[in-house]
Amino acid sequence: KKKGKDQYAVFEPSMRESFQRHLEMEADLRRAVLRHEFQLRFQPIVRLATGEISGLEALVRWQHPERGMIPPLDFIPLAEETGMIVPIGEWVLREACRQAARWNERRGPEAPLTVSVNLSAVQLERADLPDVVSSALTESGLPARCLVIELTESLLVDHRQETLDRLGAIKALGVRLAIDDFGTGYSSLAYLRRFPVDIIKIDKSFVDDIGDVPAAASLTLGIIQLGQALQLSTVAEGIEDAGQLSELADGNCELGQGYYFAEPLTTDAMQELLFRES
Ligand code: C2E
Ligand code: MG
Ligand code: MG
Ligand code: MG
Repeated sequence: KKKGKDQYAVFEPSMRESFQRHLEMEADLRRAVLRHEFQLRFQPIVRLATGEISGLEALVRWQHPERGMIPPLDFIPLAEETGMIVPIGEWVLREACRQAARWNERRGPEAPLTVSVNLSAVQLERADLPDVVSSALTESGLPARCLVIELTESLLVDHRQETLDRLGAIKALGVRLAIDDFGTGYSSLAYLRRFPVDIIKIDKSFVDDIGDVPAAASLTLGIIQLGQALQLSTVAEGIEDAGQLSELADGNCELGQGYYFAEPLTTDAMQELLFRES
């Protein structure tokens, strides 16, 4: 089509296959939304100084009737392209709030858990996003301070005024904002001042290099100090071993998550972990 009318491009069988697969996936995704084929996993976010669970990150999965469990990176891009991330993301938000509210009720009023939900840039383009967040809180009864919205740097870099206003409206509810995968984007540090951010999540790639790459630890500690200077909470992502943990804890990184503590867990397994003493 790009070449104009009545023009033909060479169409390899492999291209047809991948095109067909794409169309199938798209139809499947539409069905999945109607049939509620999505599930949440919850990964604990741990206070590094004490080891206690301070919160959870909700991570979506697609239970495909034939293909089994599909990880988010295999369908989120298509969901964003087709706009289906909007209903999917709304379901994730409501479900995460509902589950966190239940667990907090059972835990009692002390030290309520926070729940973190990933938001796509496509969702932020919608004017009704603050209302969607607000109604997820109202319906679930989860206090706004227990909800964290995770955004990526790229989203903050190509920002518009409406985006800023929308984030401001969400913040005004009392919800906190986190920058996910911090350190991997093209961003300048200027946006950290401009955006009403509360938390930075240090990308796993920095944590990975601790112990492997000389100077990686000092770079990571530098990011932690930057966070502290700006009075932001710092969360290290993808902690896999005790060496990384002690390096981060010594550097006063406040929070962390990773396979060292727990993988993303089913609702039942998370519940087991939270309430095993009782
Ligand atoms: P993310 O938000 O940075 O989430 C962390 C990812 O790292 C998760 O992958 C988690 O399973 C994985 N992870 C955690 N600890 C470790 C570790 O110690 N080692 C390793 N190798 N990996 C670890 P997951 O669940 O596959 O999600 C991938 C990405 O998909 C997320 O990255 C997020 O960007 C996106 N995503 C997940 N759920 C949602 C959602 O509900 N909405 C949107 N828009 N995006 C989502
Ligand atoms: Mg995240
Ligand atoms: Mg991340
Ligand atoms: Mg490594």
